[in-house]
This record gives sequence, structure tokens and C-alpha cells, in this order.
Amino acid sequence: MKKINKTLLFIFCLFFLTCNIKAESLKSLKAQLAKDEANQAALVKKQKNVQNKIKSANKEISSLEKDIERYEDEIDDLLEQIDELEIDIEKKKKEIDSLLSFLQVSNGDNIYLEYVFEAKDFTDFIYRSAVVEELTKYNDDLIDEMYNLIEEDKKLQVELKNKIAKSEASIKDLDKKLKNYNVSLADLEDAHSDVAAEIKSRKKTIEYYESIYKANGCKEDVDLVVCISSTNAKGFVRPLTKGTITSEWGYRICPVHGREIHSGIDIGVPLNTPVYASAAGTVSGITTKSSCGGNIVTINHIVNGKQYRSVYMHLASINVKIGQAVNINTIVGKSGGGGFTLRKNGGWDTCSTGAHLHFTIRNGWTGSNSVNPRNFVTFPSKGKSFSSRF
Ligand SMILES: [Zn+2]
Repeated sequence: MKKINKTLLFIFCLFFLTCNIKAESLKSLKAQLAKDEANQAALVKKQKNVQNKIKSANKEISSLEKDIERYEDEIDDLLEQIDELEIDIEKKKKEIDSLLSFLQVSNGDNIYLEYVFEAKDFTDFIYRSAVVEELTKYNDDLIDEMYNLIEEDKKLQVELKNKIAKSEASIKDLDKKLKNYNVSLADLEDAHSDVAAEIKSRKKTIEYYESIYKANGCKEDVDLVVCISSTNAKGFVRPLTKGTITSEWGYRICPVHGREIHSGIDIGVPLNTPVYASAAGTVSGITTKSSCGGNIVTINHIVNGKQYRSVYMHLASINVKIGQAVNINTIVGKSGGGGFTLRKNGGWDTCSTGAHLHFTIRNGWTGSNSVNPRNFVTFPSKGKSFSSRF
């Protein structure tokens, strides 16, 4: 779409209008700098954001690592506890075994019972055997309790191991994230240093152009090429190496249009004579039309700090492009004119009676304030010829 628009604009410009295709200006450079600076600020913000993410991921990892360490300590404690419980169980089992063997002995008619139990009498013996039975039961319960503890410890171990696995998985995820963060941080740092370099060079460029704009009195939205080419324009010289003055600037009676303000000076030359820029400047307008004026070139100048335009009409051909920097040795085109009679021989427009150059100087870069070219360029009087540019 954009391309089509540009093409259309180009065609439109070429055939119908005098167009000034907008190029870069000091203003647009400054706008680009502001854009770059905004971009830089956004990048700094993004960098900080990623740096914070890296910081918090690292913090999380170290806290998870501490958790894992704690879980492993807890597992070690549990293993130790299980070992101790197993030893206790063995001990209790032995105690029970020995108590049981006493009990078995006590249930028989062993003659050494009294001796074994050291009972004073039978009642005492009964009492003692009951105590043994109770002790055995008590130890059994203790063993059960210890087995339960071991089971609980084992369950806890499994839980802790699960927790460790979970923490390790989280660390792995965080490591992956960290890797991505570091990649994007590196990208952002690259982009940032690119933008910083861009800003630095743009500032230098702006500084350079600012001094030229100031020296040439250009407004910030004037195209760079226009303002730069306006530098050192010392003054206007004749646009032709030779010719004859056929009509003056000012009011006159035109054979085609009657009374009119004649905006320039007419210089009679043969068809297709090279026409030069009258001063250094930049081509700001190109018009092609088959009505009065024909092919027209307009050039913007700054002479002694003031803005002017020079206009070259009735050209048979055009040799420059809009935005082109020109000097007094640049051929802007070749002379034409002569209306219908000369058209078949390469003449162009309808409002001139013979091949000639209509040369106009205007004050300023806008408006139609033509001034007498004789104020700027030395020409011989009407009807007389010249044969040099100066
Ligand atoms: Zn004229």
C-alpha cells in the first residue's frame, strides 16, 4: 500500500505538480533522537526487570538448596533413630525371651523355683510370676510402639525424599528460567549498547547540522540537503554562457497574455543550449507541463544569510532531480520554448514566440515574490548580447 502510494505520488509529482519530496531535516533528526532515547529508557527498564527476575530466581534456588540440606539432615536423623530403635527392639526382645523362659520355668513344677525366683513362700512366688507376666506384656507393648515409630520414621523419610525431589525439580525449572533470563539480558544489553552508540552518533550529527542551520539561518524543518547546499552561495551569476536579452522583468504587454507582470528576464538562446544554476543551492521544484512555462526547475538558495529561489522556465529538457545539491557549474537543463512551431523540434510550451530562457529570482523559499534579476546579476541592456557567465 505504502509502495503504491509512493509510486502514485511520484507519478503525480512528475506530471502534474511541482513537488518538494520531504527528506531529512534537523527537526526529523531530533525526533529520531527522541525516539532512540525513549527506546533506550524502555530497554533500561526491561533490563532492570530481567535483572530482578534473575535475582529472585537465584534467591529461590538458594532457599530450595537450604531446604534440601535440611531435609537430608532430617533423613539422617530418622535413619539414626531407626538404628537406635532397632537396637532397642533387639534388647527388649532379649528381655522378653529371658522373662518368658522364667515364666515357662515357673509354670512347671520345678523344684528350683523357689531358688530361681527367690520366693519366700508360694504366695510370694505367685506374686512374682504375675509381675513377670506383666513385665513381659509391658515389653511387648513397648516393642509394638517402637515398630510403629520405625514405620512412622520410614513414612517421614519417604515424605522427605518426595520433598527433596520436588525441590530439585523446582531448582531445575529455575535453572532453565535463569538460562533464558540470561539470554534475554544479553540481548537487551546488546540492543542497549546499539542504541547508546546510535544516540551518541546522532547527537554528533545534530550538533554538526545545528551549527550549519544556525549559520545559514535555516528553520529546523528545512531539509538537510537544502540547508547544507545553501552554504557558501556567494551570489548569483548568469545562467547561460551566452545569450541576448529579449524581455525585462516587470509589467509588459505580452503578445499571448496581454498586460502582465513578467516575473523574470528573458534571454534568447538557440534551442537545447545548456542552462546552468545561477547560484549554489538545492533543487526544490520540478514542473513539467505542456501549457505556459513548460519544463520548469526551481532552486532554493541562501545568499548572505537570506533565502531566495531561482526559476528556469521553458526548458526543453531537465537534467536535475528534486533535492539535488547544485552549484553554478551544474547544468539544470537545456533551453526550449517557441511554442507550437518549435514543439516538433523539441520545444515545449505554448506561451513563447521563440527559443529562450525565462529566468526568475524570488525572495524567500515560498510565495511568488519575484524580484528584478538585474538586482543580483549583471545583464546587458535589452537587445544586447553577453558571452560569459560573469
Ligand atoms: Zn519570460
